[in-house]
Amino acid sequence: MDTIHESARETPVLREAEIAVIGGGVAGLGAAIAAARMGRDVVLVERYGHLGGQASGGLVLLWDDMDDGSEITVGGLPAEILERLQAEGGAVLPPDDDVHRRDEASWWAWAPWGLIDWRAGGAQPWPVMHAASVEAEALKSLGAFMVCEAGVELWLHRWVVGTLTGGECVTGVLLESKAGRGALRAQVTVDATGDGDVFAAAGAEHVVGKMPLTLVHRLGGVDVDAALRFQRAEPDRYRAQNRQAMDLLGTTYDRWWLRTSRPGVVWCNCPSFPPADGMDPRVLTRVEVELRECIAQSLPFLRAEMPGFGEAYLLETAPQVGVRQTRLLRGETVVTRADWEAGRRFEDSIGRSRRLHIPYGALVPRDVDGLLVAGRCYSATPEAQAVTREIAPCLVMGQATGVAAALAIEQGVEPRGVEIARLQAALRSQGVVL
Ligand SMILES: Cc1cc2nc3c(=O)[nH]c(=O)nc-3n(C[C@H](O)[C@H](O)[C@H](O)COP(=O)(O)OP(=O)(O)OC[C@H]3O[C@@H](n4cnc5c(N)ncnc54)[C@H](O)[C@@H]3O)c2cc1C
Repeated sequence: MDTIHESARETPVLREAEIAVIGGGVAGLGAAIAAARMGRDVVLVERYGHLGGQASGGLVLLWDDMDDGSEITVGGLPAEILERLQAEGGAVLPPDDDVHRRDEASWWAWAPWGLIDWRAGGAQPWPVMHAASVEAEALKSLGAFMVCEAGVELWLHRWVVGTLTGGECVTGVLLESKAGRGALRAQVTVDATGDGDVFAAAGAEHVVGKMPLTLVHRLGGVDVDAALRFQRAEPDRYRAQNRQAMDLLGTTYDRWWLRTSRPGVVWCNCPSFPPADGMDPRVLTRVEVELRECIAQSLPFLRAEMPGFGEAYLLETAPQVGVRQTRLLRGETVVTRADWEAGRRFEDSIGRSRRLHIPYGALVPRDVDGLLVAGRCYSATPEAQAVTREIAPCLVMGQATGVAAALAIEQGVEPRGVEIARLQAALRSQGVVL
């Protein structure tokens, strides 16, 4: 490939912070809020104009993996955020009395929202889960409010393009924006970019995984009650027609649409593109073009053949392409699929999701100091990440890295040297389920 030489230049240092959190998805939100609540000086950097990442801009509305089938396994910030969202009409959760019920009535009440246990096995109806359907705009607003309320300095519309290093220690990041290039120095940096942009720039060991890419969208103008009546009254005809819709939309989820809290609006976790590099702009361009076309081609069929969809229209596609897996850190601990299957408990556990007990070692790079990693780029094998990267666990990891970064500064140690008992005690006091 032809190359050009770029000359060196002077770059202004915009700020020196105690903690820099890079990426404002749920992991970054959790890290920034938790660190600021411990009294630290925190800057949160996000490339887009909103917070929430895949859980808002990616239109991923379903928060699951907060319940192991018999008890609720996630507390802390995810519970607080859902409670605040629910109070203002931004989240729908089954009431406690309905959770774990396995009967026809509960199924028809909660399956249309996706709030049932897909992994229960056996014949349907499957049990109701402690899970939530969240309104993306409500999460964007609450996220910004909570970050500011905690005293975080929020830097939107800035893209991190490199790291500042001293020896094998990250000492901050380089950013680009419409206002030009700048540097942000920090004692501890948290990589919550989802793609591991910071640890990759710092040369930390990692692998790259691939999963299907999705153009999540919402349809408006749907008569949801009519669509559900058809499913109940004519299950065989519904199955046949739904099969055709699934083929057109290239999805294997038979519940490819779910109801939302907005009247007449359904959430479609499809169509998908085969596993590919979710960081390659050529791939992402194809996803944006080809999957948009796929949605357009499915609509005439839906309008003509699916009761309830006669007036359906494309309300919006997600502004952020649905990227599930890219770079994965090789941290001090690498979570494996066997760990997940066995529900393995780690001595340095910092939180749980459904089956996963998350070890602190999976958030700490092996070979780089001054840095912690939270969210879907955490240290797991690609097979393990595929089943553990749900919204709640990413937020749990974020909260833990925020607390750990604050303790590292307080104790004057590198993040890898944080005293685990103190970290766990602090997390427990914040309602985190260990
Ligand atoms: C199609 C799809 C369906 C899913 N379904 C479910 C589901 O049903 N239930 C569930 O719980 N989970 C689901 N997930 C998984 C879940 O949504 C994600 O794993 C989780 O939201 C990831 O959160 P995160 O904060 O780690 O990363 P992200 O949400 O990716 O956030 C990373 C943030 O960092 C920012 N950023 C990235 N690079 C830079 C940079 N260089 N500089 C500045 N900012 C940067 C991004 O803009 C983004 O805001 C799904 C995911 C996808 C894609």
